[in-house]
Amino acid sequence: MARMVCDACKTEMTIVSGETYRYAESGLDNVYLLNADLYECEGCGEQLPILHRIEELHQAIARAIAFKPAPLSGAEIRFLRKELGLSGRKWAALLHIDHTTLSRWENEGQERSQHNDLLIRHVFFRMLEEQTWRLVREPVAERIASIDYESVVEQDLLVNADNPSVNSYRATAASV
Ligand SMILES: [Zn+2]
Repeated sequence: MARMVCDACKTEMTIVSGETYRYAESGLDNVYLLNADLYECEGCGEQLPILHRIEELHQAIARAIAFKPAPLSGAEIRFLRKELGLSGRKWAALLHIDHTTLSRWENEGQERSQHNDLLIRHVFFRMLEEQTWRLVREPVAERIASIDYESVVEQDLLVNADNPSVNSYRATAASV
C-alpha cells in the first residue's frame, strides 16, 4: 500500500483495519462502511477510506437505496441517477417530469409523491438491466410494493466494505 501523508497536518498516515467509517464521499450522509481499511493520521485524527472495489461498492449502495424501506431522500435520488451515469435531463425525461423539478427533488428535498418515489425505483432497476442486459434476480416489484411510506424514521445504510452485497438498513439511533 502506498505511503500517505495527511493533507491537513503533513503527518505520515498509518493503515488501520476493521473500522466503521461514515462514507460522506458518497454524497450521502447516512452510509457507513463496516470492517473498512482506513488511512488514519495520528497527528490530527483525519481518516481516509481505502476502497478496494469502488464500482462494486457503489452498485451495492445503489441497489440498497432502491429497496430502502422508507421514502428516498433527494441525495439518494441523485445517487441512483449518477450510478446509471445519466444526466439530469435524461433522468427527468425517463420519469416524465421537468428537469427543474428533478433538480428541486435532488437539491432542495422538494416533496415527491409516493408514486414518483416508486417510479424512480422501478426505472432505476429497469435501466440497470438495459445497461447490462442482465436480469436483476430479485422480486423487485414485490419488494418495492412493501415499502412503508408512512415511515418517518431516519435510516442508516450499513455496508460491509469487504463484501458490499452484504448490507442492511437500520433505524438511526437518534430518530427512534
Ligand atoms: Zn493530520
